[in-house]
Amino acid sequence: MRVLAIANQKGGVGKTTTAVNLAASLAHLQKRVLLVDLDPQANATMGAGIDKARLEHSIYSLLIGESSVAETVKTSESGGFDVLPANRDLAGAEVELVDADARESKLKAVLATQAEHYDFVILDCPPALNLLTLNGLVAADAVLIPMQCEYYALEGLSDLVNTLKRVKQSLNRKIEIEGLLRTMFDPRSTLAQQVSDQLVKHFTSKLYHTVIPRNVRLAEAPSYGRPILSYDKNSKGAQAYLQLAEEMLARHNPVESVQPV
Ligand code: ATP
Ligand code: MG
Repeated sequence: MRVLAIANQKGGVGKTTTAVNLAASLAHLQKRVLLVDLDPQANATMGAGIDKARLEHSIYSLLIGESSVAETVKTSESGGFDVLPANRDLAGAEVELVDADARESKLKAVLATQAEHYDFVILDCPPALNLLTLNGLVAADAVLIPMQCEYYALEGLSDLVNTLKRVKQSLNRKIEIEGLLRTMFDPRSTLAQQVSDQLVKHFTSKLYHTVIPRNVRLAEAPSYGRPILSYDKNSKGAQAYLQLAEEMLARHNPVESVQPV
């Protein structure tokens, strides 16, 4: 089981879109996937087709020890993966857990019980470096950082990298950067091209070759509760997220992924 946190404290960079569509793409490639929604906005939950207004249990009750995984887990029919869903209650977790023992390690403890059941666990983190994101970083093997190629993108990145360094020193020595992903990319924008060139220069091996283009179908799909592969599998967005999943698998299994000629 490999646990990937999708994190960037900057808002609106494509974390949730990446979490939902990477989960669906890995499921499409026959992997057993669990998507965990760590954001009280619950966009990943809704995007996977699960109604946040009708949850009996959620990741919140799970983290505070009031429900079990079996009671909480849902299935995304449109995505082919499992979900630990969120709703507004999760906003209270910060307060609820403040005096708890090992409050940063609650999610890690929950996921430790699931190692036999999943190949990948994808964590959709909120746009903040708060206790929920910290739980994600402590539970994760690696972090995938989506970023928009804008002027301030690199600045925000150094805050995140500093947080990762601190987490690595104190709470999770094995954490690493899985990769940086360029999202909502518009090749006609000179600025986007320049920022992208900078990323290539600074992060060579950590930067995914796959680039997610700006694609309106990706923005439409969540309102139907569907990942893009289910909503419009021929769209550029669907093809890009499938390619991302393939690139990720190839990085970890270079031999297995060699195509016969
Ligand atoms: P937050 O920080 O609020 O959690 P986020 O980082 O999770 O945001 P998303 O919710 O994935 O970002 O994306 C922000 C908005 O941009 C959404 O409306 C989403 O549908 C849209 N969007 C994301 N990726 C793309 C894309 N490649 N092309 C077009 N629209 C996109
Ligand atoms: Mg989000």
